[in-house]
Amino acid sequence: MRDFSYFRPGSVDAARQAAALPGAMLLAGGTTLIDLAKCGVAEPNTLVDITHLKGLDRIEVNERGATIGALAKMGHIADNADIKSQFPAISEALWQAASAQIRNMATIGGNLMQRTRCPYFRDPSNFSACNKRQPGSGCSAIGGVTRGHAVLGTSEACIAMYPGDLATALVAFDATVHLGERKLLVDDFFLLPGTTPDREHAIEPGEMITAIEIPGSAAARRSTYLKIRDRQSYEFAAASAAVGIEFEADGRTIRDLRVALGGVATKPWRARALEAALIGKVLEPETARAASRLAVEGAVDHGANHYKIELAPRVIARAILKLGETA
Ligand SMILES: Cc1cc2nc3c(=O)[nH]c(=O)nc-3n(C[C@H](O)[C@H](O)[C@H](O)COP(=O)(O)OP(=O)(O)OC[C@H]3O[C@@H](n4cnc5c(N)ncnc54)[C@H](O)[C@@H]3O)c2cc1C
Ligand code: SF4
Repeated sequence: MRDFSYFRPGSVDAARQAAALPGAMLLAGGTTLIDLAKCGVAEPNTLVDITHLKGLDRIEVNERGATIGALAKMGHIADNADIKSQFPAISEALWQAASAQIRNMATIGGNLMQRTRCPYFRDPSNFSACNKRQPGSGCSAIGGVTRGHAVLGTSEACIAMYPGDLATALVAFDATVHLGERKLLVDDFFLLPGTTPDREHAIEPGEMITAIEIPGSAAARRSTYLKIRDRQSYEFAAASAAVGIEFEADGRTIRDLRVALGGVATKPWRARALEAALIGKVLEPETARAASRLAVEGAVDHGANHYKIELAPRVIARAILKLGETA
């Protein structure tokens, strides 16, 4: 780990200006950034500590939706009674992320900005080829060990999986990220790797995440987050699904459906073709299982990650049917 300097700005504007300088990085909970600095992936020359900035840790929920400040802690949001009742999938996604200790430190701004867990990306001393770390250097994962890599949204330059849980749920419910005055759909905030996998987010120098806004909806109120992983806690998703559903008055015909996938794609993955196929249909197990396969149309595996193409539709169908049982 290299030496770096430390700066504690007095305002959001001062933080943005400082973070725009070459080599400067924002420090929130530090649970990702310090890890990346230790393994030599992040090499900040200045850490801009934003942990104390006022007004950025609010959690406000009303009939229109929720606004959550970038410095709100993952654990506090997961525990918030209004989030639990209005956005169960958001609370469940956070509950199943990381560990209690990390959730008590980590912020949602930092959570959205977390980097891939691709082992080649995180091991620069042994693997110099990584287009995400060093554009143009190649990809050590392609032809390597790929069990945790993505099957959707990949490119010839990078097949790294986006590992976060919260963003998957946010994408399902059309949340927006506030970058000061500028607002973007979370779906548009995450970029596909294409030929530039080093650029992961639509955030510009001098911008920082200030808040997340999630519109309220009947589908968000009847929602869940199902995460399948190698062990039951403290593990990233092998495949996960954030699902929200609204039924017509008959309690069986689907009026609205939101589905996003985690653990299988290079960014949080909204399954719009599947949503369109099921809206207006009566929910039946076979219909849900058949339509769930639409979520992985176009998927490409690299050998050891083939199981994700089989697993993801099952996770989605199980989550949809679970919500149907409570109708
Ligand atoms: C062992 C382990 C297991 C984990 N398991 C999971 C899991 O299962 N699911 C999951 O979703 N996550 C998981 N995580 C990731 C964890 O959720 C993140 O480490 C955490 O959310 C990062 O938040 P932070 O506040 O600590 O960010 P920091 O480490 O402080 O920052 C992370 C990055 O975000 C930038 N940043 C921070 N705040 C802002 C802002 N407001 N605007 C712009 N940029 C900003 C920083 O400059 C840095 O680049 C795990 C992490 C660890 C270490
Ligand atoms: S998959 Fe992406 S992050 Fe992993 S080694 Fe290849 S280029 Fe790097």
